[in-house]
Amino acid sequence: MISAPFDYEVAESVDHAIELLGTKEDAKLLAGGHSLLPLMKFRLARPATLVDIGRLSGLAGVANSGEHLKVGALTRHHDLANDPLVQEHCPILAYTATLVGDSQVRHRGTIGGSLAHGDPASDLSTIALTLDAELVARGPNGERTIPAAEFFRGFYATALEPNEVLIEIRFPNTGSERWSYLKFRQRSLDWATVGVAAVVEAANGSIASAHIGFTNMGHTPLRAGAAEQALAGAARGDVASATANADDGTNPPSDTFASADFRRHLARVLTARAVEEALSR
Ligand code: FAD
Repeated sequence: MISAPFDYEVAESVDHAIELLGTKEDAKLLAGGHSLLPLMKFRLARPATLVDIGRLSGLAGVANSGEHLKVGALTRHHDLANDPLVQEHCPILAYTATLVGDSQVRHRGTIGGSLAHGDPASDLSTIALTLDAELVARGPNGERTIPAAEFFRGFYATALEPNEVLIEIRFPNTGSERWSYLKFRQRSLDWATVGVAAVVEAANGSIASAHIGFTNMGHTPLRAGAAEQALAGAARGDVASATANADDGTNPPSDTFASADFRRHLARVLTARAVEEALSR
């Protein structure tokens, strides 16, 4: 498949990218290209201009501010998985990055592209939502911080304005917490049929709090509010009953991989397993 014709511009800085987005008609950012280019080849996307930010090295990398792990939007999945800071302070993020696609995808795809694309099947979007990450966007009027809970607006829709660049994602340091990400897929390299993230705090035989996030259970990544409420204060032996309605409030798709009913079943089973796995850490 061959894409429709387009112009190509290389951004020399974030401000240059913002300027190009504002002056070129129907321009789109290009990061790793591993979501946008397939869409263009199927002619599901036809931007008139691609603004390549892939060489802005200042947007890649990880820093620890103490409270947050600051991840540059151009950090590639492979680098996220292997970064010692991420492994130590946000291990669920490092682990989940190892589950994205195959080696080629992980060496090209970026976390910023994953989140900005707004695909409900994105694994890293679920982690951002589950951990209450903050997303920093820069546009013509400066920078703003968007909580992950307000970032994902719908199917391939986010809170980003057309002339904004996502520059950084801030994850709370979670090194001491108990976590799990379980991804059900048909083959080892596939996208998630359903994914479940769990981050749990527990002490003295009971669960103090639980953050549960779903991949591919609706038009956006979702939090499992019913299960989170039922788990807070539950005894460790009550995980099965507290997660029995984990799919409440979801709206999973039916497709060639799974029916909506099977996805609901998977969400319930995987939530219980993810919480148990998190508790066992
Ligand atoms: P691009 O394709 O370059 O851009 C995607 C979109 O985001 C575009 O609209 C672009 O304009 C916008 N964008 C990019 N960067 C920014 C920014 N900094 N600010 C604002 N907008 C921006 N993902 C998973 O989560 N799990 C999987 O299992 C998985 N499997 C895959 C398998 C294959 C074969 C392929 C090709 C992809 C797979 N992916 C998977 C997607 C992969 O993770 C992509 O890398 C990612 O979704 C998009 O990142 P990118 O850097 O390639 O973005």
